Amino acid sequence: MHVGVDDTDSESGMCTTYLGAVLMRRLADVAEVAEARLVRLNPNIRYKTRGNAAVALSLRTGREERVKKEVLRTVEELADMHSPATSPGVVFWWGEVPESFRSFYWRCMHEVVEVEEAERLLRQEGAEYVKYKLGRGIVGALAAIGAELEARTYEYIAYRSPERWGTERKVCAESVRRMNLLTYPLTFNNVDEDGRVLITPHTPCPVLFGIRGVSEQVVREAAEMVVAHEPVAMHAVYVSNQATDAHLQEVSRVAEVKPMSSVVLRGRVASRPEVIEGGHVFFRLRDDEGEEITCAAFEPTKRFRRVVRALLPGDVVRVYGGVNERRQLNLERLEVLRLVRHRAANPKCQRCGRRMKSAGRGQGYRCRRCGTKAKGKTLERVEREIEERVYQVPPGAMRHLARPLVLPGV
Ligand code: ATP
Repeated sequence: MHVGVDDTDSESGMCTTYLGAVLMRRLADVAEVAEARLVRLNPNIRYKTRGNAAVALSLRTGREERVKKEVLRTVEELADMHSPATSPGVVFWWGEVPESFRSFYWRCMHEVVEVEEAERLLRQEGAEYVKYKLGRGIVGALAAIGAELEARTYEYIAYRSPERWGTERKVCAESVRRMNLLTYPLTFNNVDEDGRVLITPHTPCPVLFGIRGVSEQVVREAAEMVVAHEPVAMHAVYVSNQATDAHLQEVSRVAEVKPMSSVVLRGRVASRPEVIEGGHVFFRLRDDEGEEITCAAFEPTKRFRRVVRALLPGDVVRVYGGVNERRQLNLERLEVLRLVRHRAANPKCQRCGRRMKSAGRGQGYRCRRCGTKAKGKTLERVEREIEERVYQVPPGAMRHLARPLVLPGV
């Protein structure tokens, strides 16, 4: 039996993974959890509270009515129903997951999907579902059941006791840095480049910390190394599509770039990168057909912006990133394929070393001081600060779905 749940949280609290963890505990005597999934969906949509996560549990049980009752009771008790933006949805499914659910998951990764579409599919396949308020949560709930987790990572999440929600988290930063030293890169995104701890969120949600890694065993071991000066009320280990690049779609032309999708696109830098107020960096990228798109590296991407600023028109790059409604591509990763190493310049005078000026159309070049002539431009070497390699935004600015470069398969 599969249970999908989404949209139970709001800016002011709760977290769908917490609800999933409570559910697992409450169902312990009637169901065995075969798999608990934490599924990230399209990172570009505006409905999301934070990271667009949904949860699905795959259960072995002979007590289906009891499970259903417990799930709905838990959602009604824990979901933040007062928040206008919270719109929970629950989906129940039995047996093999149909192909139509799989393709629905992929649509939810790349597009914006209407609640009606989820509902139509659920009815067509004969699934059971419950909507609260607008019921937008059935979109994520259904996608989480349909998610293909061929590439997978794991997250260990420790939760706080309710009386501490909203207060400062008491986790020893030094213990996190040590855990990172001992387990990275089998666990990842624990600390930022400057040593700042990333495993503790800054929101008033029930999560104390979350550790991501390549196996269940390693995230469990890493969690043991973290010293918390407050009780861990509960924990859960989820299998996830985080850090798998599942959101990225390769396109070959700017014309194929759809708003709200995440793409990989090869092209040539068409303008000098420009820094605007706030420290954001922008440049234009041109495809083989001459069509252009604006690419952006925002201030939170920190040092990554230096790489982007060092690009020159003519450089061949592959850009990776999310596309907004205005079809601007927000960079998550940049692959420098070929750097411009030479540029044509007016020749230097052989005699006095000055840069020559044009002597008129088709007349070549002439030194203004000594009159020396030259025929054409010369090729000069351009010193570059970047290399032909892949660059990625720092861990603190990384999308949940983006695969850190240290992991195989990028
Ligand atoms: P958290 O990460 O803390 O769980 P969140 O960012 O996941 O919060 P939600 O509260 O789950 O935010 O809100 C996301 C909402 O958007 C859900 O209702 C979900 O069903 C819906 N949704 C997810 N993906 C899509 C999509 N591709 N198209 C339309 N709606 C979507």
